Amino acid sequence: MERIAANRLDRSFYKYQEEFEEAALSVLRSGWYVLGPRVEKFENEFAGYTGAKYAVGVASGLDALILAFRVLGIGVGDEVIVPGNTYIASVMGVTINGATPVFAEPDEFYNIDASKIEAAITEKTKAVLIVHLYGQACEADRICEICKKHNLRLVEDCAQSHGAKYNDRMTGTFGDIGCFSFYPSKNLGAFGDGGAVVTDDEKIAADLKMLRNYGSRKRYYFEEVGMNSRLDEMQAALLSVRLKHLDELNEERKEIAKRYLEGIHNESILIPSVRKDATSVWHQFVIRTERRKELIKYLEEKEIGSIIHYPIPPHLSECYKALGHKAGDFPITEKYANEVLSLPFYNGMTEEEEEYVIEALNAF
Ligand SMILES: *Cc1c(COP(=O)(O)O)cnc(C)c1O
Repeated sequence: MERIAANRLDRSFYKYQEEFEEAALSVLRSGWYVLGPRVEKFENEFAGYTGAKYAVGVASGLDALILAFRVLGIGVGDEVIVPGNTYIASVMGVTINGATPVFAEPDEFYNIDASKIEAAITEKTKAVLIVHLYGQACEADRICEICKKHNLRLVEDCAQSHGAKYNDRMTGTFGDIGCFSFYPSKNLGAFGDGGAVVTDDEKIAADLKMLRNYGSRKRYYFEEVGMNSRLDEMQAALLSVRLKHLDELNEERKEIAKRYLEGIHNESILIPSVRKDATSVWHQFVIRTERRKELIKYLEEKEIGSIIHYPIPPHLSECYKALGHKAGDFPITEKYANEVLSLPFYNGMTEEEEEYVIEALNAF
């Protein structure tokens, strides 16, 4: 058997090859390449899919986060509560606006622990950023209550949770703004960079459209110093194709996860679990082990790839040295960073590949 990579993006391209190629050709032949009718069409479809009133396409997930805090007026002197264990981009969305991240520890599902949010609130707190990490929805109802009680904005980082729900409601629609990435490896992946923001607030949506295009609502009239953060027609057209299949792709991931969950039995490996009332779209299948280094080496010998999401938590990253945190400040976050490992997991994974991985893990 061929080496099993941690991720294979080619498999889901070939599954819908004709549809993707047709969409791409039609863009090339259209003569319109950035912010055009296909972007608008995709924005409408994506808003419809999530259940939000508006979706605004932007250039990346990071830009979605940057623009979300900017449009909410959160910046220098403000604090935002963020999960300690997340991808660095979540935190950068806060700090690029000049605001300060205040970290909170995760729960057993790798999401921000709702019971630890209130202790992190100060007079400067303006918002909470939740990240539906690895595809699983956070405890959104409880977090919404806390935000309401303390008059805080709620922003959701849904870069890993396209289609995941809490109490039957889509992630991205609990807070003021939901931020999505369409980086190729995401559940709803483009063939390049892309992102979107969803909201029910008409003014926020209109302001985001202004900010993503140099701060102009009307051509060559600039009311704010905005950004160039536009979604292009090629990505939008390809995303429309993939969005049509997103539910079946997520369903397939659920099936793979089920086989892993039922098949992996090893005392030194902790398998993931899903919270009551939440769903996971299994962006990653993340196990934990105290013998991680050894396990990675063992899997490599068996030609099985794996990745660590993520080896260094944001509070210990070099780029956030100035925040003054040190090892030991967030022990649960740090324990996870030392123990997590993502197994090979992708649409189009064969049962033979799954079996091989399961057997290898059980024999470890
Ligand atoms: C991928 C990701 C982002 C950033 O998205 P880009 O499109 O790569 O900028 C932000 N947050 C999380 C949790 C992510 O996984």
